[in-house]
Amino acid sequence: MNIGFIGLGIMGRPMSLNLLKAGHKVHVHARRAEMMSALSDAGATACASISELAAQSDIIFICVSDTKDVEQVILGDNCILSAIKKDSVVVDMSTISPSATRSLAKTLAAHQCHMLDAPVSGGEQGAIDGTLSIMVGGEEAIFNRVLPLFEAMGKNIVHIGSNGAGQVTKTCNQVVIGQAIAAIGEAFVLASASGVDPAKVRQALLGGFAGSRALESHGQRMLDRNFKPGFKAHLHQKDMRIAMETAHELGLALPGAAQVTQYLNAVVGQGKGENDSISILELQEQLSGITVKSE
Ligand code: NAP
Repeated sequence: MNIGFIGLGIMGRPMSLNLLKAGHKVHVHARRAEMMSALSDAGATACASISELAAQSDIIFICVSDTKDVEQVILGDNCILSAIKKDSVVVDMSTISPSATRSLAKTLAAHQCHMLDAPVSGGEQGAIDGTLSIMVGGEEAIFNRVLPLFEAMGKNIVHIGSNGAGQVTKTCNQVVIGQAIAAIGEAFVLASASGVDPAKVRQALLGGFAGSRALESHGQRMLDRNFKPGFKAHLHQKDMRIAMETAHELGLALPGAAQVTQYLNAVVGQGKGENDSISILELQEQLSGITVKSE
């Protein structure tokens, strides 16, 4: 079986590398040729265009930035639809709009092809370690066809439901993580302003009900003031936009998610969109005139 992988950024590069390490034949494409060299050095076939990759692949993974990018990769000139073989599967592992996903799945079905939405959680480290959580929408038979490949990239792989259900799940994930980051930042500001070491607060909270992977990992990065991505703030802003659009479509109130959206708008507005989304902490510090410092 020939595999294609489009989008070799922070996530796509290690994910495609793990497919190679598991012994699969992988064709890769990135719009900047230099992004493909690490993969071709490891044995992947570099393709100059998306259509070239699509013509040679039975299962095509996508891991690019936003809804419009996935639409361009699938529907654009000289892209997937122009060259895809019948019965091929397109697996979108980017985080994008659930409603746009349902529409793309219909378009692919009209071309006798299949689509899975399979966004991930677990960050860059999870992608490198092959321990991502993968949340999948689409037909169960197609999920089962792709499962051995998911197993090369992730550990907690859940078939959620029909097309779009994976993206809905990922939106739920981002609503939780955004508020977790904001809550941890507030706790650290409170501790620092009270003359209490936030590192000790983190250590104590990790053993109780406030303990979480977010407190463990993002909390430590906040204490280290390590704003290098990780997960870029402008991508988290995009995820919160998807949450807000979905809330609008369905007539839902998500006030906590709305607040995180405003924080991330301001992070990006301050020119820090390429920094990690834990940069929310810096806004919280500005609001109270406090700098979070571990002793
Ligand atoms: P990234 O490092 O910015 O990589 C995105 C890649 O997509 C880049 O290589 C970019 O190419 C490529 N791309 C964007 N638009 C494209 C287009 N129209 N055509 C072709 N290639 C295009 O981002 P990332 O962190 O890997 O994230 C990728 C996806 O995974 C996003 O949807 C993100 O929300 C999601 N995600 C990220 C994380 C994380 O922790 N980083 C975790 C879970 C999910 P260029 O390099 O040429 O710009």
